[in-house]
Amino acid sequence: MNTEVLIVGAGPTGMTLANELQLAGVPAVVVDKLPKRSELSKAGGVQSRTLEALDQRGLLEPLLATGDYPISAGHFAGIPLSLEHARHRLPWRSVPQVAMERFLEQHLAAHGVHVRRGLDLTGLSQDDDGVTATFADGTVLRSRYLVAADGGHSTVRTLLGAAFPGRAGTVTMVAADVRLRGADAPVMHTSSKDGHWAQIFLLGTDPEGRPLRRLVLGGPGSLPRDVPVTEDEIRDGLRAVFGTRLELLELRYARRITNAARQAAQYRHGRVFLAGDAAHVHLPLGAQGMNTGMQDAINLGWKLAAVVRGQTPESLLDSYHAERHPVGEIVLRNVQAQSLLLDREGTRDPDVLATRELFTALLQQQDVQRYVGDLLSGMAVRYPIPGAGTHPLIGLPAPDPKLGSTRLHELLRSARGVLLDPAGEFGELAERWSDRVDRIGQCPGTEPMLVRPDGYVCWAGEPADLAAALRRWFGEPH
Ligand SMILES: Cc1cc2nc3c(=O)[nH]c(=O)nc-3n(C[C@H](O)[C@H](O)[C@H](O)COP(=O)(O)OP(=O)(O)OC[C@H]3O[C@@H](n4cnc5c(N)ncnc54)[C@H](O)[C@@H]3O)c2cc1C
Repeated sequence: MNTEVLIVGAGPTGMTLANELQLAGVPAVVVDKLPKRSELSKAGGVQSRTLEALDQRGLLEPLLATGDYPISAGHFAGIPLSLEHARHRLPWRSVPQVAMERFLEQHLAAHGVHVRRGLDLTGLSQDDDGVTATFADGTVLRSRYLVAADGGHSTVRTLLGAAFPGRAGTVTMVAADVRLRGADAPVMHTSSKDGHWAQIFLLGTDPEGRPLRRLVLGGPGSLPRDVPVTEDEIRDGLRAVFGTRLELLELRYARRITNAARQAAQYRHGRVFLAGDAAHVHLPLGAQGMNTGMQDAINLGWKLAAVVRGQTPESLLDSYHAERHPVGEIVLRNVQAQSLLLDREGTRDPDVLATRELFTALLQQQDVQRYVGDLLSGMAVRYPIPGAGTHPLIGLPAPDPKLGSTRLHELLRSARGVLLDPAGEFGELAERWSDRVDRIGQCPGTEPMLVRPDGYVCWAGEPADLAAALRRWFGEPH
């Protein structure tokens, strides 16, 4: 074996996974076909649950210290969405993907994990003991497990012949990073009588402190994906929607995006796992793709580490598909709903316009704001925890109580499990898992709960079930 886990792809998914494995002390190699990190502008938003996950690993403060990342205004299909009522501690922020990737790569390097670049995976085979990966330059790497974090056009997925059902793109839109004169609101969605529409969000500021915005243009007559976007096309698109009200001052970057929507039927293929865009692709609406990929990695990382260390049986790895596939499905569905509400092809279909009007009214309701805010931010994710009972905390991200001078999230920095034991009744039992699980006995006012390394509650409530939960998630005691 060259390493325990080979991660193909050093995007946000691959690097988040590499960080989880380095925290657990499990040897991993990250490879990427690009000779240097991509500076292309893609994701602009990081959602509450991802911010919480970064905070749990002690990475949020250092990330936010690398730039000015304002809190974003929420929206659903461009309809402004107040996030005030969503269940979040850390509201959605405009952190560009470029900044996220730069930060993760530097953080990994500081911990001795260096992305091996210029390695283009071209071949893959697996047997009972491991996976053999071959690369265009003749390099061969053998690992016990391989994770495909190689994006929407995943070579690994193709080499596996993995089913990737869904729909091919039927229409394209233009996504661009721009400076504009005349744009004032943080979120704008405007359409013209002939079906052209534009969405504009504040992304942040450029080095001179001037507002940078993400512009999405759509409507009738979309061009094929591979046709380059021109500055004239953007000016024409703006004119079609806004007349002379808005003016393009600077175009920094543009690409065509499609409404293709696909999800891998299986996230696990023996010793190979699909994660991030390699497992699910959809229109980038509501800032979810990068976030979902990073959450896939956080779900998979500690499980791979536990199995590689021989602490838990291999079957723990099946819970990755069981937990993350339904999350991807929910993301795809809400993106499809948003894509319809956008009237993406500019049909001006009265049914679509009426539905959008109804949604605009519904999104004024606090309960709806909370529901949709939780959905987009990842806060609504609840993992199925078999045999864990019905306590309302089970399967949810653990609340972050203050435990004396520290917080639960600080305890999760080392990616170990945490047992909150306010009455001090589980000391003897927990001692048997003390190499994997930290027990906090001094936490008056909190509920007893067992928290997995990814921050999700896997036991609460019934004391008699605790030993079974410790066994299931952390393996046999030492
Ligand atoms: C315009 C736009 C706006 C977006 N906005 C948002 C947003 O606001 N919020 C959000 O959460 N998401 C957003 N997304 C989606 C987000 O960009 C993706 O979901 C994210 O990049 C997925 O990360 P990943 O690490 O899974 O894959 P990628 O970022 O695609 O990384 C895959 C990596 O694998 C490497 N690779 C590919 N093939 C091979 C190979 N054969 N061998 C070795 N390496 C290989 C690639 O070079 C690449 O570095 C947006 C996307 C676009 C296009």
